[in-house]
Amino acid sequence: MTRAAALLLPLWVPLWAALAQPPTPESVLGHKPGDDFFLASYDESLGYFRKLAQSTDKLKLVHVGKTTRGLDWYIAVISSPENLASLDKYKDTARRLALVKGLTDAQAHELAHNGKVMVHIDGGLHATEVAAAQHTIQLAYDLVSGSDPETAFILNNDILLLWFSINPDGQNQVVSWYRRNLGTPYEVSEPPQVYQEYIGHDNNRDGYMNNMIESQVITRAELEYYPQVFYNHHQTAPFPARIWIPPFGDPVSLNPHPLMYRWVNVFGTAMAAWLDEHDMPGAMHRGRFDDWYPGFVDHVNNFRNTVSFLTETALYRFATPHFYTVDDFPAQRRDLRTEVFYSSPWRGGWWRLGDAVRYMLGASMAVLDTAAKNREELLYTRYRAGKDVVDRFTKDPPYAYVIPRVQRDRGEAAVLVEKLMTDGIEVHQASRAFRSGAHEYAEGDWVVLMDQPFAALVKELFDLQKYPELPGPPPVAGTAAEGAGGRGAGGGRGAGAGAQAAAAAPQPTPAAATPAPAAQGAGGRGAGRGAPAGEPQTPPGQVPYDVTGWTLPLQMGVEVSAIAEPVGPDARAVLRKVERVEPIAGKVEGSGPVLAFSHNTNASLKAVNDLLAAGASVSWSKSDGTWYAPGSAASILQKDGVDATSLKEAPAAWPVKKPRIAIYEPWGSPIDEGWTRWILEQYHFPFTVLHNEDVERGHLRENFDSFVIAEIGARQAMEGMATGTVPGQYAGGLGETGAQALRDFVTAGGTLVTLGNASLFAIEQFNLAVNNVVAGLRQDQFFCSGSLLRTEAGQASHPVLAGLPATPVVMFERNPVFETRREFRGKTLLSYPKDRNPLLSGFLLGAARMEGKAAALDANYGEGHIILLGFRPQWRGQSHGTYKFLFNALFYNPSMAPEESGGGRGGRGGNPQQAAWRREAEAVKTELTRLLDRNRAYFTARGPNAVEEGKALEAALDAFQRDRIPALEDLRAQVEDAAASRAEASWLAQLRKFAVDLRTKDFSSAKVDDLMEEYKLVVVP
Ligand SMILES: [Zn+2]
Repeated sequence: MTRAAALLLPLWVPLWAALAQPPTPESVLGHKPGDDFFLASYDESLGYFRKLAQSTDKLKLVHVGKTTRGLDWYIAVISSPENLASLDKYKDTARRLALVKGLTDAQAHELAHNGKVMVHIDGGLHATEVAAAQHTIQLAYDLVSGSDPETAFILNNDILLLWFSINPDGQNQVVSWYRRNLGTPYEVSEPPQVYQEYIGHDNNRDGYMNNMIESQVITRAELEYYPQVFYNHHQTAPFPARIWIPPFGDPVSLNPHPLMYRWVNVFGTAMAAWLDEHDMPGAMHRGRFDDWYPGFVDHVNNFRNTVSFLTETALYRFATPHFYTVDDFPAQRRDLRTEVFYSSPWRGGWWRLGDAVRYMLGASMAVLDTAAKNREELLYTRYRAGKDVVDRFTKDPPYAYVIPRVQRDRGEAAVLVEKLMTDGIEVHQASRAFRSGAHEYAEGDWVVLMDQPFAALVKELFDLQKYPELPGPPPVAGTAAEGAGGRGAGGGRGAGAGAQAAAAAPQPTPAAATPAPAAQGAGGRGAGRGAPAGEPQTPPGQVPYDVTGWTLPLQMGVEVSAIAEPVGPDARAVLRKVERVEPIAGKVEGSGPVLAFSHNTNASLKAVNDLLAAGASVSWSKSDGTWYAPGSAASILQKDGVDATSLKEAPAAWPVKKPRIAIYEPWGSPIDEGWTRWILEQYHFPFTVLHNEDVERGHLRENFDSFVIAEIGARQAMEGMATGTVPGQYAGGLGETGAQALRDFVTAGGTLVTLGNASLFAIEQFNLAVNNVVAGLRQDQFFCSGSLLRTEAGQASHPVLAGLPATPVVMFERNPVFETRREFRGKTLLSYPKDRNPLLSGFLLGAARMEGKAAALDANYGEGHIILLGFRPQWRGQSHGTYKFLFNALFYNPSMAPEESGGGRGGRGGNPQQAAWRREAEAVKTELTRLLDRNRAYFTARGPNAVEEGKALEAALDAFQRDRIPALEDLRAQVEDAAASRAEASWLAQLRKFAVDLRTKDFSSAKVDDLMEEYKLVVVP
């Protein structure tokens, strides 16, 4: 329509009709989406979508919320004009089918027949995977401008919820980074900071927890539109595939309705076929992309009966093209053979952003086409799956979960309830006490009735996970003995743990009932899952793609119980549906001048920070961690949900200073550092972010009391991003200068807190007498890529353990396991249980290697301390139950350190007899050093001198064996603890063996520490 013609139209014609054809992307952006070296930012993309919306009645822009950095966030709803005019009606249809309640099958069929299928497609939330947010621009244009019957068919049957950017902040950030570097040697450099505020690449792993604002916006929209299909774009294809498409690899989650995976597979196969039909070869299925972790932004929706999946299109870097030859391919794929899940192998050549955009357009169109062709069935499936879930938990337990209102940390119980409600789960609360079966529940207890359509998600989050052992390639060849040594992982553990765990006893999973797979691999290893505890086990045939265990009540330290019998009408009559979780107000009793409050709640830490910020004086009990504050603190405590009682005066207590906290932020998108910042903000800890040069400048102690290094590899901390790969100011790590500044900081009384593998940085750079007993082990010897493990607190009165339970559950994700050497100075804070597999949820191979070993240490260094936490105390903002390890450490200072015990080895119980034994045994090293000198003198002597040295060695060893060893034997005999005595006996046997060898073996080039290691004498039992 020409401009002149438009002017002639009558006034009542809607505005869009008066406008010209939809503008092409290139007419607005100056480029076609996918052009080499061009990326549209979110702002530019939104500008285009605004123009597009003005030009058509097939697209509506909808404001869905704001981003963390404050951008206005829109999605485009695209369909036929008629469908959009009735959008509210179709939303209502989708909602009613999803929620099931009140519908008969016939009514559901009727709704499905008349409904439209809602399809979520997005521009990818990993902002460096750039093609997705470019393809959405073209997709929108193609759909609203297409006049072919195929497009019309799609628009008539589908309502597309197009998240043209599902990470607007990140899209702007990455595009501006790329533009800055374009044409420089750093054109393809990775951005140095996270591309979504706080959590970067973890932004698609916050699905059920919804910690981030972005996750909340997405989940809220899914619970407004109730799409039947959810398609999330990514760009990490397994090379040389051009796109990875479902079916997923095994294992997949156990709880989604089976129809979800059936339909995921239908969509996957349809996408690959579409691409092949349109001359886009190279689609691959299955492989390493399993579907086990329910926190993925797509996958979580399968538990709400939305058919949900992702694809991974190939990416070089940003908008820069790259040429590949077959020689670049992995050896096993150079023959370009046809495979069942890769039937059109890619043959190499150029790969440009435009190719990725083209493949994504094809995949998105295939999804829209498949959805349109199966419209009615997909709509009915949403209803059918929800109805089946309701039926499942009407017939089988758990019939409900109860979250008691009275808890060790009741604030966290309320947080758990809030999380469930954000996820679309209906929660009730008991208006008075009620009975179900043999159990009595209290007024105020929260109840999750499981006969609701999304209950599979609750089961998934509350169950103990047992990662299935899958038949796979034989493990890497190793010695059979070592394989067998890694005994007793998931096997017989899960079922037994159920009764003891805070989480409700899980139902046996289908896999648990399956006969064990045949033994595989060398040495006849590998009884399957379900094998009795202690049987040899194989490592997983395939490495899990993400974590293996996440049981939310265990992570959050919240007690939850399952109701194992149907909830009858009497019990239901007292339940009231919770519309929102009211903030808990603290109760303050009495009117004395001092208020005492428990350290058990995370809220107490937030309150302390609020009190310190308000200038109140706070102190911390030396015996049990109780907090004390002046009477004027009452209003803050009430607001923060902390109960307090008043006292006449505070007992012996440490004064608490407002902590001056530094957190190290390496360049290179440090996800765990971001999570740590986010959590500190949630609990009102003030902190300062330091980069390499800030640390290297030194003088840290003048400005800070504590210094946090979040999860990072030791080498990565030292070396950072390689020189030449990023603009100069971002290259390098802490380096020797930074490490020395940190040593100076701790020497002068600072507290260094290291999380997870950052502890290895501290051990190396501070030369701590700590070994990582799982260092260098192969995956068939030790493997734990994210599981919940049981630990035991060593020194109940240590300030870092204040408020924590005696047996904390920790998230262990490829972390170190500590063993202190005899010269270690400090305390063992936390250990893995002795003689018992620590696994509670997930997968652990090689459990025996951690039994009795340390999980957390307080190492003395100079005037200060290093708190080494060998696990992830704040993992993804989920491990609320272990936040206090981090929080307490931030308040910890030398004045609070427990007295050093004899020998400086903390964390050991014992009585005077055992102490005497240990003192003497530890003193043996001096003598062994002397004896080794004699051994060296003898073996390096020549001629007559050798005879003399030989005699001297004989005499020294005679005396040692005649006097020293029997004296130790006497001390050992007085030790009453049978297990300790046994351990001491075997240590003495090793000592005897060493003495014998010192006579006959040439140790002249050996070091005493190495020999003590070799003879297993380092750790005195
Ligand atoms: Zn991705």
